[in-house]
Amino acid sequence: MPLNKATGNMYEWITHTWNPIRGVCPHGCSYCYMKKIYKRFRLPPRPNIVSEKYGYTFGKNKIIFVGSAFDCWAKNVPDEWIRSILSFVKGNMHNVSFLFQSKNPERFIDWLGYIPYNAYLCTTLESNREYPAIYQNAPPIIERVKAMHGIKNRPKMITIEPILDFGEEFIQLLKMCQPTQINIGANTGCNHLPEPPSEKIAALVGELRGFTRVHLKKNLARLYREAG
Ligand code: SF4
Repeated sequence: MPLNKATGNMYEWITHTWNPIRGVCPHGCSYCYMKKIYKRFRLPPRPNIVSEKYGYTFGKNKIIFVGSAFDCWAKNVPDEWIRSILSFVKGNMHNVSFLFQSKNPERFIDWLGYIPYNAYLCTTLESNREYPAIYQNAPPIIERVKAMHGIKNRPKMITIEPILDFGEEFIQLLKMCQPTQINIGANTGCNHLPEPPSEKIAALVGELRGFTRVHLKKNLARLYREAG
């Protein structure tokens, strides 16, 4: 399967996406647009790591989001699939860098010895609050935080997207993760998610800039725009 050029509501700094596992992501987040697409075709998860037809390598000068449409680190993804993905990455990792993003970052820890240093390790924290109807099968927020806290000496990111209403403790949890960068985005379009008001987001952004780099995604503009 070839790389795809990053489009739509992707991080603006990502150049390509690579989805080495296809099918319905087991986390089943209520807001996931991929869920609707894959459910329509009823595709069970399957690895799709190397295509003999394309026989490609990653090439050069790319920042590749691995698993943008399926969480490759979900609990029930077989070890062999992860081993194959990391083995392919290892053989093709020169002059490119990676983003590995998961709502189950605890699994990063098991594979740290195999994950290259030119990979950002990222988790999503939509809020400090648990919203089981929205997160569905994804691990609770506090488990994601503990795992990120436990990962040392690696470039780490947190993505707050879609941002959901949060409490004061959110900042402490984000600090605990010791992220190199925090990305903030909103769900695209109208939805029934519990979203924070603009002034609350402004205060959060101010606090976060006190200890890390903050990237505001374009889709956050529906909820919050910076002056100037
Ligand atoms: S973890 Fe990501 S890919 Fe999986 S269901 Fe949630 S939003 Fe979709």
